[in-house]
Amino acid sequence: MTKLVLSREATAELTKLGQIILHAPTIDDVLKLVVNRAMHRTQASMVNIGWVIHDGIVVERVGQYPGDDAPKARHRSVQTRIGEGVVGSAIAAKKTVIIRDTRAEPSFVPIAIEAHSELVVPLIYDGKALGAINCEHTDANHFNEDHAKPLELLAAVAAARIAMLQTMRNLEETQHFLHDMLRTSPSVLYVLDYQSKLMIQGMDKFADFLGYELEDIQAMDEGVYSLVHPDDIPKVDEQENQLAQSSDSAVVPVECRLQQKNGEYLWVQISSKTFKRDAQGEPIMEVGSVQDISQLKAAERTLRDREARFKALFENCFDCIVLYDGSGEIQYTTPSIERFTGYSDAEVLGRNALEFVCEEDHKRSLEVWTDLVKRPGGFAVLEQRIRHKDGRVLWIEARLTNRIGDPNVNGIVSNFHDINERKDSEARIIRLADFDTLTGLPNRRKMTEVVFLAIEKAAKRNTTIALLYVDLDNFKNVNDTLGHATGDWLLNMAAHRMQHALPNSAQLARLGGDEFAVMLAEGDLALAQETAAAIVRMLQEPFLVDNYELSISASVGIAVYPDHGRDAETIFKHADIAMYEAKHQRNRYAVFREEVRLTIERSVQLEHDLQSALESDEFTLEFQPQLSLETGKATRLEALLRWRRNGEVYRAPSEFIPFAEKTGLIHRVGTKVIEQACHAVKALDRHGLDLLVAINISARELQRTDFVERLTAQVEAADIEPGSLEIEITETAAMSDYELSFSALSELRSLGFSIAIDDFGTGHSSLAYLRNLPADIIKIDQSFAPCLSKDASKDDLAFYRSLVRLTTSAGHTVVAEGIETPNQLNAAKELGIDMVQGFHICMPMPLEEFLQQKHGSIATA
Ligand code: C2E
Ligand code: CA
Ligand code: CA
Repeated sequence: MTKLVLSREATAELTKLGQIILHAPTIDDVLKLVVNRAMHRTQASMVNIGWVIHDGIVVERVGQYPGDDAPKARHRSVQTRIGEGVVGSAIAAKKTVIIRDTRAEPSFVPIAIEAHSELVVPLIYDGKALGAINCEHTDANHFNEDHAKPLELLAAVAAARIAMLQTMRNLEETQHFLHDMLRTSPSVLYVLDYQSKLMIQGMDKFADFLGYELEDIQAMDEGVYSLVHPDDIPKVDEQENQLAQSSDSAVVPVECRLQQKNGEYLWVQISSKTFKRDAQGEPIMEVGSVQDISQLKAAERTLRDREARFKALFENCFDCIVLYDGSGEIQYTTPSIERFTGYSDAEVLGRNALEFVCEEDHKRSLEVWTDLVKRPGGFAVLEQRIRHKDGRVLWIEARLTNRIGDPNVNGIVSNFHDINERKDSEARIIRLADFDTLTGLPNRRKMTEVVFLAIEKAAKRNTTIALLYVDLDNFKNVNDTLGHATGDWLLNMAAHRMQHALPNSAQLARLGGDEFAVMLAEGDLALAQETAAAIVRMLQEPFLVDNYELSISASVGIAVYPDHGRDAETIFKHADIAMYEAKHQRNRYAVFREEVRLTIERSVQLEHDLQSALESDEFTLEFQPQLSLETGKATRLEALLRWRRNGEVYRAPSEFIPFAEKTGLIHRVGTKVIEQACHAVKALDRHGLDLLVAINISARELQRTDFVERLTAQVEAADIEPGSLEIEITETAAMSDYELSFSALSELRSLGFSIAIDDFGTGHSSLAYLRNLPADIIKIDQSFAPCLSKDASKDDLAFYRSLVRLTTSAGHTVVAEGIETPNQLNAAKELGIDMVQGFHICMPMPLEEFLQQKHGSIATA
């Protein structure tokens, strides 16, 4: 810049102008003064101010044109860019420009007058061009350096004032902004003075924020510090330490609780930075903000609590929870894993689940796993064995959930617990269900299964299987006489003996009671017979109990697959049937025979029929009279049982009575007979017929201890006299248990019943005993009737006569049964027999028929 030389008046004038400029209140005022002064100094035709606004745009701001009596604000009427035109170039170069003749200057653009010379002085402050004073004159060569110098000085003063005004305005704006900020911010912005411990800015809002009046805080000893929770004071101190040590631009936050007016503490975050330091560099003021973070804290606390709860649940849960990745690698586990596996959680992390699973369960575990991994959200339950760290095998039940799709989990979650106890009891149940507790041998259920499977196999291979049914003879006796303990011991010994003598391929089982079974897989009939013979032999060897020899024997039945049956059930049944046959003789074996099966089947059928016959009243009685040869009149009617089905005789008494005796059904049958016999007595009585009714009673009936009692009860119930009934009991029956028969018959007789010994002569009994039996009548069996025939030998007749003599000598009345011909009747008469019975005399018939025939027609010829 050229050296400025000014005249004294000029300097004085400028000084005065400077004073005015320095007091001008606005930029426009400054610029107007500048324009006015420039106009005056340079005698220019026109002066205006080019003003830099944003983006390098230059606009006219103030100007005085010819005809104007003063400078005017002419905002943005003309515009150019920095570097363009004379004004723009001067601003860009920050240098005064004088154009002596505008016609030689191509960049000159006329604005308002036809100017031929121009002077442009930039307004520069602090190295920055704010704009430029532009003077124009209609004459060429009007401006020179003398014009330029004072204007440059003027420009410097004006630029300084403008810069100052701009700064002031910026400051004002900032202040407004800050004020607005302070007012509207949700957080409290403040300036804190360390010495007074009060805020010099933002205190009212701060007080309000906590519910205080401004004065409340001002009155506190420690100012704002009085509000900090005692526990948080160290944190606040620490924050101020940090502020002191860090640069002034560093913001240091602290979270603490401040006490509110209502006494409660509020969680806040204070973010502070040093605002002012003293001469020694110690901070004396800080600026910052206070923010309510109570909700955040509450949420944090809830989250922390919840996390803690989950953690506690997780870590203390009874089950074990394991998180695997898709490949089965353990990602996480609860510490409870140690309780189950002996491994700590740290020991298992990163290892594959399969490492712990027992070999036997690998395949199945993998199958379940592979399937589950394919099913996001899927679930599976797996029972498997794992190996404990100490080598033990443990059963666990794992409940697996596929959470691979869930970003929070991203894996397979397994929840497992040990099920050893359950598995133990399951095994115990299986043992109980399959094995006999006494001998430890498989039981019937298990054996049936074994045979079933063996047959399946044999069917495929075309081989045979033999099943032996072993039943101990006399075992019941042992049990009854020596007690159950000995019985159990004996069963065990028998099982033991068989077990050790049988071939390895044989499977022994206890079917129940004293029944055993032996299965010979691939055994044929020959081997079965050989084995059965061996069993019979080994079991007939005495057993030694306390130096006492105990002898039993066994009956064995054999059935062979496929000859005797094609399925397990049949083979079992047929071996049992064969055993049943062997049992008839005991201490032997028998092979299954179809005939035996048929017999048994028939008797089973018969038993069934008998049952239903009893229920549907198929039993009726027919009556056959016995005729007194002395009077020629009927004295008694023998009741004979008839089984009719659909009106037809279904089975003869000889067929079903023995069976009914065997099965015990005879008692029910007998009751019916007595009932109907009592009815008959009543009917005869009604017809004025004085006849006894004889009923046949079998040995088993008589031997029942309550027989007499029941009979008497029935008789009483029917309201008849015992003396109108005769009890027929066969010789064989009477002699089978003499003592018992004797006392029963004595009792019956003493009650008034008449007693007849039936079928005399067939029982080969000791006559001495027989004669002593308390009986009224003896009936000579009908099988001897032919001895009375015309063509019978003399010996036969003599034999019959001796039979008659035997009975009469003991004082009994004698009846000849089976009289079929007149000859026999005559012979009977000749022999002095008391009574006769037989087809020749009268056929058995229903009571009604007998009553209709009016008994009168029955007579000896
Ligand atoms: P039983 O007590 O000796 O009865 C006489 C049997 O001889 C009857 O046979 C009768 O029909 C038959 N009979 C009668 N006259 C003649 C004759 O002239 N010639 C021949 N050959 N037979 C004659 P039934 O009714 O078939 O009875 C057979 C056996 O069944 C009876 O022999 C008796 O032991 C038994 N019985 C019949 N009814 C009953 C009953 O209610 N209870 C019991 N426990 N057994 C009965
Ligand atoms: Ca009889
Ligand atoms: Ca008889």
